[in-house]
Amino acid sequence: MLHLKDIRKTFTADGISTEVLKGVSVDVAEGEFVCIVGKSGSGKSTLMNIMSTLLEPDSGSIVFKDQDLTAASSAQINNTRKNDFSVIFQAYHLFPYLTAVENVLLPYMHGLKPISREVREQAQEVLKRVGLSGKENRLPGKLSGGEQQRVAIARALIKKPSVLFADEPTGSLDSKTGMDIIELLKELNSGGLAVVMVTHSPEYARAGHTIISMEDGLVSGIEKI
Ligand code: ATP
Ligand code: MG
Repeated sequence: MLHLKDIRKTFTADGISTEVLKGVSVDVAEGEFVCIVGKSGSGKSTLMNIMSTLLEPDSGSIVFKDQDLTAASSAQINNTRKNDFSVIFQAYHLFPYLTAVENVLLPYMHGLKPISREVREQAQEVLKRVGLSGKENRLPGKLSGGEQQRVAIARALIKKPSVLFADEPTGSLDSKTGMDIIELLKELNSGGLAVVMVTHSPEYARAGHTIISMEDGLVSGIEKI
């Protein structure tokens, strides 16, 4: 479904250029759970950001559902990003003065346009799916870290994406709470959602169907579980 071929990316900072991705190829099948592991600085987040179209590669190709995104117009890329891809991070990026359900509705907040009852019901539904029924009207400050990540996951799900990208989603959580989030991602994956997750934890990585190891800007191994 998602195919990256020979991706290269160089960053320049303080006058020094570093090739961070040196020709990386990765495939994600429909409904697959792919984990990316590797040392700090090996290029995992850069690769993930390129996969999710948050960042443009210098060269290489990205094909999603038979559409070459590297040759697509920005309108087409925006469309894919909006309809098919969702992203969560280590930090939950919730708005502190909006309740859980309002945070989930953020992708639908455009100026003063009212949000339909159907979408509001969907927000309740996704919050239920992530296990937050009864806590819809709490502010993030009154939720635990694991619950805040669940809100971020619910917000990522409301547009019914086909791929969820998660960059260290458990990075701020203790190991038990982290495992609960991994279990939730597994469950969502069983429902057909493809998941691409960066993790430092070899244990969490075993949740996936495929483990991609990165080393110094290159894929050093692909393991099928
Ligand atoms: P971590 O496990 O610590 O999150 P990572 O594998 O995700 O590491 P990346 O964030 O992809 O690593 O970074 C890879 C390299 O690219 C690092 O050396 C980093 O300093 C550099 N880098 C990342 N983003 C930029 C940027 N915008 N400008 C310059 N250098 C960058
Ligand atoms: Mg990273």
